[in-house]
Amino acid sequence: MAGDDMDPAFDAADDEHIRREKSKARELRQSVWWKNQLGRGQCYYCRARVHPRELTMDHIVPVVRGGRSTRGNVVTCCKACNSQKKYLLPSEWAAYLERLSRASGSAPGAAPRPGGSGEA
Ligand SMILES: [Zn+2]
Repeated sequence: MAGDDMDPAFDAADDEHIRREKSKARELRQSVWWKNQLGRGQCYYCRARVHPRELTMDHIVPVVRGGRSTRGNVVTCCKACNSQKKYLLPSEWAAYLERLSRASGSAPGAAPRPGGSGEA
């Protein structure tokens, strides 16, 4: 999907959207679903095994770019990936993800089936 630029219309979200989605993120953080995500102890992006306490909540499409606080857009993220995402430009972040997916042999979106054996 390289070069698939986002429509500029998606670039900015209005304040109301941001406030609503941030508040939904706070609720989601209290949910059993989110606790289960943390319990898997794995970063969605780099697939590193991380202690649940070291995982943060991340929006695949950032709220400020029009993303929503839904289960499909909210993932666990290790601190390393979290800071990468914060400091990289969206295009650089996309390149970072591509490097990760090439290293692991699977695309970031291709999550392994949950409820596996739990082996490392
Ligand atoms: Zn990571």
